[in-house]
Amino acid sequence: MFWNKFNPLLIDNYSHNLNKNSIFLAIMGFLKGFILTVINTIEALRELRNNLSGTIGFVPTMGALHQGHIYLIKEARKNNKILIVSIFINPTQFLAHEDLSTYPKNDENDITICRKNEVDYVFMPTPSLMYQGEDEVLIKAPKMSSYILEGKSRPGHFNGVLQVVLKLFNLVQPNNAYFGKKDAQQLSLISQMVKDLFLPINIIECEIIREKDGLALSSRNIYLSQENRREALKISKSLNKAKELINKKINNTSIIEKEMLYILKDLNLEYLSFVNKKFEQINTIEKGNTIILIVVRFNQTRLLDNIWI
Ligand code: AMP
Repeated sequence: MFWNKFNPLLIDNYSHNLNKNSIFLAIMGFLKGFILTVINTIEALRELRNNLSGTIGFVPTMGALHQGHIYLIKEARKNNKILIVSIFINPTQFLAHEDLSTYPKNDENDITICRKNEVDYVFMPTPSLMYQGEDEVLIKAPKMSSYILEGKSRPGHFNGVLQVVLKLFNLVQPNNAYFGKKDAQQLSLISQMVKDLFLPINIIECEIIREKDGLALSSRNIYLSQENRREALKISKSLNKAKELINKKINNTSIIEKEMLYILKDLNLEYLSFVNKKFEQINTIEKGNTIILIVVRFNQTRLLDNIWI
């Protein structure tokens, strides 16, 4: 592509058809000095990485980008010289019956979003590139904290998450990696992996981005019917109720839980849990060290939400 000649590293192996809008944005990006390059081989990423200098920010995603992802991208853009986003629907974190084959995918739009937000490089590997052997060295998430809550509903899920994140970290070698508090347990386990395996990476926790009406943004929200979506607002409503009670100095979790359950009573609640940052169950709210987690199911769609107190 024509703008590659301005890029010292010819690594754009991606062959999607650019629509007019993308070409316009690419030109605008070029005029501003930002050129987005899509990388889809391990060799190209390694070559790129060997030639990069300065602070590298990294935002790993599974694509179908929304404002939640964009917030992470913006935070990373502000604080790093180079910004790399990965888009990869990781098969090893899906259980057999889960929505791997139907997980939302919109590569063209994701690239446009990345370009608009001044991402430098998008890494988009295929599963066969990321998993080259049949009998790989595996990562085991800690038993105590990865088979409760999300891990109880999705046993083995966090092994897959840590496996892919470690691979991506090894390839990208970022200084700063950005994760959303929305996936609180994932964030906690990734932070633990970085600590336990002595990875020289700062994990940056990012706030949960919500629709105006309170619904936490998620790639899976598109599965919701209009009625489901209306009902789903009770999730953030119950979390706000908890916040309100805590502001009134009510710290007993069973009192707060009762009020929340009343709001959530018509929903298919998978769990409502009060934990500290180590993901241990708590009975008393401790400011700065409490997360209230909710998962509600609408048919096959699980909606996760939480607040950090
Ligand atoms: P995913 O593409 O679902 O794997 O998410 C990629 C990253 O975006 C993860 O670190 C998520 O926690 C984060 N993320 C997803 N939704 C939101 C949201 N509504 N607000 C903030 N971060 C989010």
